[in-house]
Amino acid sequence: MFNLVLFGPPGSGKGTQSEKLIEKYGLIHLSTGDLLRKEMKAGTPLGNEAKSLIEKGQLVPDEVVVGMISSALDANPDAKGFLFDGFPRTIAQAEALDKLLTLKKTAIHAVLFLMVNEEELINRLVGRAKTSGRLDDADPEIQRNRQAVYKNETLPVAGYYQNQDKVSRVEGEGTIDEIFDRICSNIDPLLEA
Ligand code: AMP
Repeated sequence: MFNLVLFGPPGSGKGTQSEKLIEKYGLIHLSTGDLLRKEMKAGTPLGNEAKSLIEKGQLVPDEVVVGMISSALDANPDAKGFLFDGFPRTIAQAEALDKLLTLKKTAIHAVLFLMVNEEELINRLVGRAKTSGRLDDADPEIQRNRQAVYKNETLPVAGYYQNQDKVSRVEGEGTIDEIFDRICSNIDPLLEA
């Protein structure tokens, strides 16, 4: 198996690049944000519980997202690999993911860290709000909250993987294809190894 984490702040292009990466490498896309929005849309108890947190730009509890990821791993026993997008977002989630993957006799092979400056991030989220219909993109206060949560709770996850020597930093500004090529040039040598 080949498992990747696409890492970066809200607005760094993880969703866009994930779509291209899963196609090229035949991976299963696991976006906890997408999974939570699906639950919200279906009006499940989990979705209703998550809604108020998401709409404030806060994180959903670790147990909830780890449970969703665990079910998704179990549901895809024949996967070539997984692309984790927007997960893990806390150290506790990263530790839980390592445990789940160890049970499946696999691991995270690489973490691609998309680097985008803060001003560009805010501009992108403002642009995305016009088409995504996402309240958490449209409201500047919620956006600031999401960036703060990212810095305080999620950025340490990069250090966690750095300690395992798995992080590749990728310049996340430029065209979608330029960024994609940069990501691939980090992944391809790992596959050849
Ligand atoms: P995203 O689409 O990845 O930007 O996620 C949208 C929102 O869903 C986040 O702002 C959080 O409220 C929630 N969320 C998504 N993934 C996670 C996660 N791994 N841990 C906690 N909350 C999450």
